[in-house]
Amino acid sequence: MSVLTLARVTKHYPRNPVAAVEDLSLEVREGEILSVTGESGSGKTTLLRLIAGLEIPDAGVITVKGKTVFGPGQSAVPPERRGVGMVFQNYALFPHLTIRDNVLYGLSRAQRGDREDVLARVLGLTGLCGFEKRYPHEVSGGQQQRVALARALAPQPGIILLDEPFSNLDVSLRHQLREDVGRILRAARTTALLVTHDTRDALAVSDRIAVMKTGRLQQLGTPREIYSAPVNEVTAILFGRMNFVPPGVLSGRREAWWVRPEDLELRLLPAGEDITGTVVRSHFYGDRQEVVVDCSGPGGAQELVILADPCLPVRAGLRVGVRERARAAENESLPGPASAAAV
Ligand code: ADP
Ligand code: MG
Repeated sequence: MSVLTLARVTKHYPRNPVAAVEDLSLEVREGEILSVTGESGSGKTTLLRLIAGLEIPDAGVITVKGKTVFGPGQSAVPPERRGVGMVFQNYALFPHLTIRDNVLYGLSRAQRGDREDVLARVLGLTGLCGFEKRYPHEVSGGQQQRVALARALAPQPGIILLDEPFSNLDVSLRHQLREDVGRILRAARTTALLVTHDTRDALAVSDRIAVMKTGRLQQLGTPREIYSAPVNEVTAILFGRMNFVPPGVLSGRREAWWVRPEDLELRLLPAGEDITGTVVRSHFYGDRQEVVVDCSGPGGAQELVILADPCLPVRAGLRVGVRERARAAENESLPGPASAAAV
């Protein structure tokens, strides 16, 4: 069942000729974490604000849990009646309210009778028990973010929207928070739409990822699908380095070939089926090495970037072979977990 549906939603801002969101359709399924990613200005925040009711679309239909909150011939349902929770980039906590009062702020009149139970539940989920009486400035940035999440979870909304929830945090905290937020959302069995410009965040926490560019949806799929089978160059590059090989440039490759550096294998002693080339340069990163190989031939110029073993002694000018790496999943000779257990 889908918790949130957008059908052909478009939004232009005044004095901006380019649509911020254009003809966008999307369904978010119950219980999933769906990330929306794309470069800055691609329309991610606008999309969240349209869903939350903080912006009004020019056209389209938005439904939350089967109820139309925006559509033709009806007035837009206000944000507080949409059943949507929001976690803002800057957390937007009330500085003059304790964590307890921040968390309970969004409860409806009907929910207030259970507020002690609600408080215990969401503080338990977010690991904030014992912090009730503190003020936001008396806890760390990571904890403030969990307060914002607890506040969004408290009224048990149909869906939680998070806008760049990790971008205010330093790198080490970011990793931890990404884990925490994913775990909390899943433990709460809530549905979430998470906006992030960081494709690593999207890959790590999502069930599915939506990629946007200039207001338009480019691709929607699981992290593996998006990473391994991008439908266009926009998606391919957003998720990391990609080699683009036009047809006919490499011997034996008649069709265009898109291949990630880790899907290529560098060979110091080229064998018959290898593409051969000359090392142009290599970048050593400690845990990995990126090697650029010039494989130009009569068909045209081509450099390939290859992720290689950091111990491999590679220097500019070396003749090497390159071939497509055999993937473990495709290699039947590798024992799988089942056969390993049977031994
Ligand atoms: P993202 O969150 O992906 O960075 P936004 O949704 O903030 O993108 O912005 C999408 C586009 O809409 C951008 O071109 C941006 O400049 C424009 N935009 C955003 N907010 C406004 C606004 N209030 N008025 C006019 N243009 C806006
Ligand atoms: Mg944004």
